[in-house]
Amino acid sequence: MPVSEIFCHLMAARGHRRSPSANAAGLHMNFCPHCGAKVNREIPRGDDRIRDVCSACGQIHYQNPKLVVGVVPEWQDRILLCRRAIAPREGLWTLPAGYLENGETAADGARRETWEEARARVDHLAPYALFDLTFVNQLYLMFRGPMVSDAFEPGAESLEVNLFTEEEIPWDRIAFLVIQETLRRYFKDRARGAFAFQTGRIQPVTPKG
Ligand SMILES: [Zn+2]
Repeated sequence: MPVSEIFCHLMAARGHRRSPSANAAGLHMNFCPHCGAKVNREIPRGDDRIRDVCSACGQIHYQNPKLVVGVVPEWQDRILLCRRAIAPREGLWTLPAGYLENGETAADGARRETWEEARARVDHLAPYALFDLTFVNQLYLMFRGPMVSDAFEPGAESLEVNLFTEEEIPWDRIAFLVIQETLRRYFKDRARGAFAFQTGRIQPVTPKG
């Protein structure tokens, strides 16, 4: 993964401050969202890791990974990619994906993201890949799903949307390593004629020198 990608992943967490004393990827708050008092970093009684604990109301603000859901939208022998209109990685290509909302099933979230970013409808979603991105506290769940028609157009977050055969995929212009990895495995599985559920861990690359 290029260094710029790590930077961009971290940009998604802007507004939070990283603490050198906690988990390397830990993000912390400064003020309690319940009462507005200062938040301390401490290990609560009976716990084994540093948490954000309100100095006034005592509330422990647990922080846990976020789930990103996405789709490989399929139309005949092609798949749909979106060119990002927003940071991070504006101008590069990606699969429709985004944070799952509260009260939403994973498949509904994936369908919603596909509609929002590509104005495309997918159905019969099949879970395809689960990737851990512990360095940004994210978990990606990617589905495969046939498009219900070949209708699509750029949503608000996309500059351009298009169908690509495997040969046409702009491999050096894919926005995120997790998306590259999903596509790489997808085409490998497709070539052998069987899709197996994929898992893996995406690691940041340490800058050389
Ligand atoms: Zn409080």
